[in-house]
This record gives sequence, C-alpha cells and structure tokens, in this order.
Amino acid sequence: MTKKKILVLGGGFGGVFVAKTLEKARDQVDIQLVNNNNYFVFQPLLPEVAASSINSADAVVPLRQLLRHAQVRQAQVMGIDFAEKTVVVMQGARLTPVNLPYDELVLALGTGVDLNRIPGMADHALTMKDLTDAHRLRTHVIGCLETADVTAEPEVKQQLLSFVVVGAGFSGVETVAEVRELVRRALKYYQNITPDEIRMYLIEYAKRILPTFPADLAEYATQQLESQGIRVMTGVGTKSATSTGVALTDGRLIQSSTIVATIGNGPHPLVSMLGLDLQWGRIKTDRFMRVPGYDSVWALGDAALIPLVDNPQEDPVDFATQTAQFAVREGHQLATNILAKLSGQKPEPFAYTSKGSLASLGMSKAVADVYGVKMSGFFAWLLWRGFYLSFLPGFASKFRVGMNWILNSIMPPNIVQLRMPPPATRYIHFWKGDKVFEPGMLIDGFYTVINGAFKLTIDNPDTGEHFEKVFGPGEHFGERVLVKSELRTGLVEALEDGLLLFIAQKDFTRFASAFPFLDNYFKDYIEKTFGGADKAFAPGSSNQQPGSPAQLKPKPKLAKQS
Ligand SMILES: Cc1cc2nc3c(=O)[nH]c(=O)nc-3n(C[C@H](O)[C@H](O)[C@H](O)COP(=O)(O)OP(=O)(O)OC[C@H]3O[C@@H](n4cnc5c(N)ncnc54)[C@H](O)[C@@H]3O)c2cc1C
Repeated sequence: MTKKKILVLGGGFGGVFVAKTLEKARDQVDIQLVNNNNYFVFQPLLPEVAASSINSADAVVPLRQLLRHAQVRQAQVMGIDFAEKTVVVMQGARLTPVNLPYDELVLALGTGVDLNRIPGMADHALTMKDLTDAHRLRTHVIGCLETADVTAEPEVKQQLLSFVVVGAGFSGVETVAEVRELVRRALKYYQNITPDEIRMYLIEYAKRILPTFPADLAEYATQQLESQGIRVMTGVGTKSATSTGVALTDGRLIQSSTIVATIGNGPHPLVSMLGLDLQWGRIKTDRFMRVPGYDSVWALGDAALIPLVDNPQEDPVDFATQTAQFAVREGHQLATNILAKLSGQKPEPFAYTSKGSLASLGMSKAVADVYGVKMSGFFAWLLWRGFYLSFLPGFASKFRVGMNWILNSIMPPNIVQLRMPPPATRYIHFWKGDKVFEPGMLIDGFYTVINGAFKLTIDNPDTGEHFEKVFGPGEHFGERVLVKSELRTGLVEALEDGLLLFIAQKDFTRFASAFPFLDNYFKDYIEKTFGGADKAFAPGSSNQQPGSPAQLKPKPKLAKQS
C-alpha cells in the first residue's frame, strides 16, 4: 500500500506539533514540513532574546532535530493549486519554483503584521514576531545607548533614551519589561547617561493592559511596570510615527528613536491571496479543523479560526485563541483527525479550555492565572520560568535556556552591538517642521519626495548668497552624492507632513552610474539648479577641507535613523 503524502506548511507551534504526532504513524504516512527557516522559534522567549537574557540561537530549535522522521524542507511557500493538489515553493541557491504534491495539506503559516493603518508605523516601528526582530531590537537599543552616550544635544539625547512599546497584550508587556531590564543593567557602563534620563512608555488603546488576564492581575502588572519607571498609557492609540517619535490619538507627541509595535496582527500575505474564506484575517475551519469547500485541506494555529462550539456567534470566545498553548493542542488533534480520515474513522472536534496565562514583568516578577488560581510576584515568575522550560521542545534547548538564565543572573549583561547593515532604500516619514538634514552632516544619500513638500535652504556665509527651493512629489534632492562625497551645506525641512524615499549613497551612485542617461540627467540637473557641482556645495568648501574640525563638529542626524 502506498503511503499518503501529508504536507505541512509552516514550522511554528502548529505545524511542528502536527508533524510530531504524525511521526508516530510513519508506517502509514509520508510527512513533509516546509518552513522558510530551518529552525522552530519559541516566540514566548523573544522578549528575553531582545533583552540579552537568552542568546538568539538558544531560543530556537533546529527543525531537523525536532522532527527525526519527517522530511524537513527549507523553502518559501509561494502558492497552492488546490485543484491539482500541489504547492509551489521557491527553494535552493537559485530560488527555483518546485511543485510539491500532497494527499492531505495542513496550513500552519501563522499570521502577518499589518501596520499600514497607522501612517509611518510600518516604516519606523520595530516588530516582535521572529528571531530577526528580537535581534534587531536588542541591537537598536544598545545602539541608542551608544549614541546617547556621545551626543551633546539634549533633545537628541532625550529622543535616543525614550523607548515606546505599542500594544499591551502579553508580548507588549513582556517586551517593555525586558527592554527596561536591559537598559537598567547596561546603564552602569555608560558614564554619560543617568537613570533619570531614561523614558519608557507602554501605549494601549484599550482601557487596561493584559486583556486576557483578570482585572486585578492587570492592575498589579500596571503598578509593577510603573514602579520600574515605565509609563503605562491606556485608552489612547497611536496616530502616526516617524523616525523621531510617535503621535498619539489624544494629541500628545512622544519624541523617541525606538518604537516597538506588538499590535497589527494581520492575515498572512499568502493566506490572504489564496481565495479562502477568511474572517478577522484567519482561515475559517469547521470544528475538525478542515477548511470547508476544499478537499483534504486543514488549518490550525494563528492562521486559523477554529470554532469551539457548534454555532459560533461573532464572539471571539467561541473560537480557539491565537496562543502557543492552543496551537500545540490543535496540532495533536489535527494529526489524529488526518489519521482517522485515512483509516475510515470519524474525526473528533477540537475542544480545549485554556489552562490560564502567564506574563513576565521583569525584575523577577510575573502574573499568573493558572487553572483559575491567581498569582503575582516572585512565585508567579518562578512558575513562568518553570512552565516555559517544560514547554520548550527537546532536552538540549531546555538545558541551553536554563544555563542562559543562570549565567545571566550572575554575569554582566551582554552589550555587544552586532550591527546589521541598514537597507539600501527605505521610506522615511516626517512631520511638518522636521529637519531632513542640516549643514555639517555627512552626505549619506539621495532623497525622492513621495508626498508632502520639503524646502532646501543654502546660505553661503562667505559670499552672503542665499538659495531656496521647494520640492514636491516626484522631485528629488541630495543628488550631489554623485559628484562629491562631503558634508551637507544645505538645510532641508518638511513644510508639511511628508514621505521621502531614501537611497543610500553607495547604492545610488552605483545605480545611477550604471545608466548613462541617469548619470547625465543628474549632472545636467545639478548644473541647471545650482550652476555646477562646485557651486552646489560652495559654502565653506573653498577654505575648509572635508573632515576639518570646524566642519566635523558633532551633529547627530536623528531624523534619518529608522
Ligand atoms: C513575542 C511573543 C510572545 C508570545 N508569548 C506567548 C505566550 O507566552 N504564551 C502563548 O501561549 N503564546 C504566546 N505567543 C503566541 C504564540 O507564539 C503563537 O500563538 C504561536 O506561535 C502560533 O503558532 P503557529 O504555528 O500558528 O504560527 P507561528 O509560530 O508563527 O509559525 C508559522 C511558521 O510558518 C513559517 N512561514 C510563514 N510564511 C511562510 C512561507 N511563505 N513559507 C514558508 N514558511 C513560512 C514561519 O517562519 C513560522 O515558522 C507569543 C507570540 C509572540 C510574538
């Protein structure tokens, strides 16, 4: 008898636990799991990775070591042909498309993040979804401390030392608490920063934090966070974000170089284009986790909307929650149902009641609501640690995380900043009055106006010449990076809220010089606009060498950091 092919898409909690249960019946089925990384991410530990309490590699487990009897394929899922029963993946060194046939298909791709509803948020906020996010946040926070330590301008320093976390579910609460912990422990190595210069904010649109916890535990958590200097702001949302801060719906503005968004769970981009029936961005399934109307297609985890009752109303409590706790149980049940179907037996509906919730608050404190028993403080924190240690798959990962926790409690924090190269192009949002750059800054790239209006002013102190130009959508500035690399001589300010596309100097120069028509266009433009390359950066250039002390006086350029 030929074995049936079970194809699992996604190697998170849902996908891994389906595959693990199916492995027990490996004499009946061939299991293949496709994931874009070769590891499983234990998401509840990401805030600790961001805080340096756990090494990045120790919060993940290689899928091949977790699943010894399934075929693990590292590939990007690109599409599904439900009629042909094939999945298209991109894989290998040349990223070629490959068709994978299936008899039974399991969708466990998780969710995406959609921050586009808040202007500027998608371009300026850090997210907290996977390992790269946690690593990026850690690097960014340490980078802020490094820059603040050498920054002379008080407003710029304050902006660097203000940290905003948006969303106060358990990932937001744990993230703000862990970032606070990292900063607190790191501060003694930064002699020019005092503890009272640190500002931490937790912004929540709902009336209170931790909505899945009982109100008294949420109140305790609020008090704990506030006692650590974290300002908890509830009943207020975010209106827009730039590289210099976040505007709130009540009109307040928080100047900050760090915005972490734990909000904005949206449909997975692939899931949203498959033509499936979605509600709240999740794939509607029946109680057995089958996708109605599709032959042999199942869904679970954060991607799926699984009813817990026969006739669910529009009430979220009638559906399985988007937690690891549920995804693991769904995985066992879904695998059992596939095996039941293949052997001609009846599948079982998914039924599970949450055993409770736990959230760490930093400083060895936590809140826990387990089997209806409420706990807070140190013992809740011990329970939190014990629970996650037991929940981690595999002895090696439990041991590594345990060792990380022990070492972290007796050793100084790791403040090594392993920098990641910034993207070659990025969007930068500005509020009216923000400076894009000013004289004395190092030329760093080229800007195109997407929307808004930006004014360039150049004043030549030697000749008294004054030059002004306003740039609107489709126009550009900063093109002289093509002809010379030096310091800025002009000031560019936003005349209204606007958006720029920034291209880093090296990439722009390479790109423009590869196309003679572009190179000619920009040289001609500089000639016509400024009267030649030398004039374009005339002020001071005749009597100052680039890099001379007068020109290189420190002027941190916050507006361009994102
Ligand atoms: C910071 C944070 C803290 C959390 N803390 C808790 C907690 O304390 N308790 C709790 O119960 N839950 C917690 N959760 C929620 C929990 O982690 C999720 O509910 C759970 O991970 C959902 O599992 P999943 O398998 O559905 O999705 P995921 O775990 O997101 O897995 C989806 C997988 O699919 C892969 N994938 C996506 N697209 C593609 C593609 N096109 N091709 C190939 N592979 C792809 C992804 O790389 C990923 O491996 C937390 C979540 C976060 C972000």
